[in-house]
Amino acid sequence: MNLKNFNVNKAPTPLVKIFARPYVAGDSIQAALDASRKFWDTRKICSTIDLLGEEIETDHEVQYTVDVYERLLTALGRQEFATVSLKPTQLGSHRTTDHCQKIIAGILAKAKEYGTQVTLDMEDHTLTDMTLDIFRNLKKDYPTFGTVLQSRLFRTDDDIKSIAGLNVRIRICIGIYNEPKEVALQNKPDMKRKMLEQTEILFKEGHYPEIATHDEALIDESLNLAEKLNIKKDQYEVQMLMGVPMQAYQDNLLKNGITVRLYVPFAEKWAYATAYATRRLVANPAMATYIIKNMLQKTTGKR
Ligand SMILES: Cc1cc2nc3c(=O)[nH]c(=O)nc-3n(C[C@H](O)[C@H](O)[C@H](O)COP(=O)(O)OP(=O)(O)OC[C@H]3O[C@@H](n4cnc5c(N)ncnc54)[C@H](O)[C@@H]3O)c2cc1C
Repeated sequence: MNLKNFNVNKAPTPLVKIFARPYVAGDSIQAALDASRKFWDTRKICSTIDLLGEEIETDHEVQYTVDVYERLLTALGRQEFATVSLKPTQLGSHRTTDHCQKIIAGILAKAKEYGTQVTLDMEDHTLTDMTLDIFRNLKKDYPTFGTVLQSRLFRTDDDIKSIAGLNVRIRICIGIYNEPKEVALQNKPDMKRKMLEQTEILFKEGHYPEIATHDEALIDESLNLAEKLNIKKDQYEVQMLMGVPMQAYQDNLLKNGITVRLYVPFAEKWAYATAYATRRLVANPAMATYIIKNMLQKTTGKR
């Protein structure tokens, strides 16, 4: 196979399934729990577990998603290493904000029984208002509820102002969605500069930033900033995606007392897992080469 010409979008599903492996814990709650527990037991890495799913537009599938999250929370029970992440478009946003909010409130109530924290992921800019409205409304009853802000969006500075004083757990990232130039920065270095600026504001305003990036220089700069501002190491964390090969760097962070949390996605339906992995591979086609090299090492034993 000529990897230079490899087109992920045209790859057959069994092949994408192979590529999905490093990024996806597996096709069951048990697989997600096993991955998450192994990260904790072997390396003291925390996780946030997410059920993969594309936009859902039927009540039946929303109910299925709620059911999976309830089973996941029960299976996790009381523990200290895993949170869960969820998306409005999987949980009733196809109807109304109120409807979606009620469904998410149900999951938060269940999570509270076990002391498990929940993060509301951020999707594309058409959903930012709805996501933040739901977040703000539910944060009153569930103080540890967290959400995400994307530095590429022009509105994010104002969104940070709007949460002043709320002491929020905020995952700050550049944002995965390609957004139009009317609403978002178009150039990655600009997005990253903005992310650092916004991390600084989050630190200064007493929030708990979850610095979500694989850019080592950006993480290093964020940590230097924390030190300069006298922010304690339990007042922020670094987050990365499971499957991105950064073990040595992560171990170094852990050694320095920084909390590292991996995004651990799973799916009960493989179609969702392959859709997610396809997006990751489109975002970083070099990953295909890395996975193939890894597989060859496993079969040949050679490095
Ligand atoms: C824990 C977590 C949660 C997230 N949640 C959201 C969310 O709710 N909403 C949202 O819009 N976005 C979310 N994102 C995605 C994020 O916004 C970025 O799109 C993504 O992290 C890539 O940007 P980067 O900052 O890592 O920089 P990049 O410049 O993309 O990455 C830096 C380097 O890391 C490596 N790398 C990055 N990605 C991969 C990969 N997939 N495989 C292999 N190597 C890779 C490459 O070497 C790359 O050069 C999340 C990211 C993380 C880590």
